[in-house]
Amino acid sequence: MPIAFTHLLSGIIIIGAYFIAKKPRCFPLLAVGLAAFLLPDIDPLLYWEQYMASLILPSSFADLFLGLFGPRPPSCLHMWIFPAAIALSAAVMRSKGNRLWQYAALFTIGWAVHLALDGVLIF
Ligand SMILES: [Zn+2]
Repeated sequence: MPIAFTHLLSGIIIIGAYFIAKKPRCFPLLAVGLAAFLLPDIDPLLYWEQYMASLILPSSFADLFLGLFGPRPPSCLHMWIFPAAIALSAAVMRSKGNRLWQYAALFTIGWAVHLALDGVLIF
């Protein structure tokens, strides 16, 4: 499981690339997109232990790569069913002409990248 800052950094890179490519004028979209990269990690708050504070910010450059893609069992928000359900809702919203579909799509991307970085393999 990578540290929280690694998830934020991946979000900044991907959302930044999206904004450069698409040039959307909606900056709440940026905030929602970045939040999606971090949201799955609120479930450790349910079983918080003191050492977990060291998993938020890096203390060295190597910490950015700590635990990347290491297999992790699914738990609470770390299950693929959530981004899959949001992707389905984004597709439905787009087909019905709802302009909020971009929020759902970015949320799906953020959540899916988070789970991939965490090495979650099972639904
Ligand atoms: Zn996580």
